[in-house]
Amino acid sequence: MAKFEIPSEQWAQVVEKSGGPVVYKKIPVQKPGPDEVLINIKYSGVCHTDLHAMMGDWPLATKLHLVGGHEGAGVIVAKGDLVTDLELGDYAGVKWLNGSCLACSFCMQADEPLCPHALLSGYTVDGSFQQYAIAKAAHVARIPKECDLEAVAPVLCAGITVYKGLKESGARPGQYVAIVGAGGGLGSMAIQYASAMGLHVIAIDGGEEKGKSCRTLGASAYVDFLNTSDLVQEVKNATPDGLGPHAVLLLAVQEKPFQQATEYVRSRGAVVCIGLPAKAYLKAPVFDTVVRMITIKGSYVGNRQDTQEALDFFQRGMIKVPIKTVGLSELQDVYKMMEEGKIVGRYVVDTSR
Ligand SMILES: [Zn+2]
Ligand SMILES: [Zn+2]
Repeated sequence: MAKFEIPSEQWAQVVEKSGGPVVYKKIPVQKPGPDEVLINIKYSGVCHTDLHAMMGDWPLATKLHLVGGHEGAGVIVAKGDLVTDLELGDYAGVKWLNGSCLACSFCMQADEPLCPHALLSGYTVDGSFQQYAIAKAAHVARIPKECDLEAVAPVLCAGITVYKGLKESGARPGQYVAIVGAGGGLGSMAIQYASAMGLHVIAIDGGEEKGKSCRTLGASAYVDFLNTSDLVQEVKNATPDGLGPHAVLLLAVQEKPFQQATEYVRSRGAVVCIGLPAKAYLKAPVFDTVVRMITIKGSYVGNRQDTQEALDFFQRGMIKVPIKTVGLSELQDVYKMMEEGKIVGRYVVDTSR
């Protein structure tokens, strides 16, 4: 078994007050409890949620001081006495769901993201924007040794989330799924997961450049909302019988696309909400929802099995995430670009610099 030298102090990005900014400083390395592991985080993806955690603008309070981050990929360097199925040296990932009670009715049915006692990485417990992070052993992602830790990091939130959304949509191989916000970070992964699952993808986003990248990633059609006179008709026309896609995945961060989805989804189809536009509401005509038997639902991260499946698609080379890597010390700059809407693809921070 590998042996690791664990320092007493480490570099971290710390939110000291709601609204930020993050402070790059040295903090103590924690010791894992009996059911926990200590992961030497090598890389961590940066998710929009991390910005919300720093700003404190969600209706759920964060821990303070807080180390954000929930797409952390690294190596297990210490573990508690109760941890038997993980070894020092194993690759592991810190994801949004850091831990759950494993005893409530949701946990018992593998719906652990709904656990009322869930611990959330980088939100209610310290996350992956540090060199050494603690997580419950039961919940850490088991990352196969063949995976590149830098490239796999965004799978730990973005990948799991879109993959679970596709499962929740009920769409089956050969059917059509519309992905709204397909040109963004989540969208680019959703297109690839959907294609790998045997689904046809109708990508919806704005601008020719995004259209090009969506097609390259595997979308069979692209609908440009900036350049269409009738979005609803165009989406329906992208299916062979003109009756619309079997499912819609809503990844957008604006409210408007949420209202249109029920108009173009196929009868009997499902509209799955994943993106979280601030203060948004979902409105749908009751008549249509009834007589066309439309399902509207939410999908939120994924359970442990979804995690391993999402990683398996990645390991088989079916998911390529466009990433840009910067030092952990530059996290505040990434947040600034996020606020300005300038991020293309996914940012990953390297904790060694
Ligand atoms: Zn996230
Ligand atoms: Zn529970």
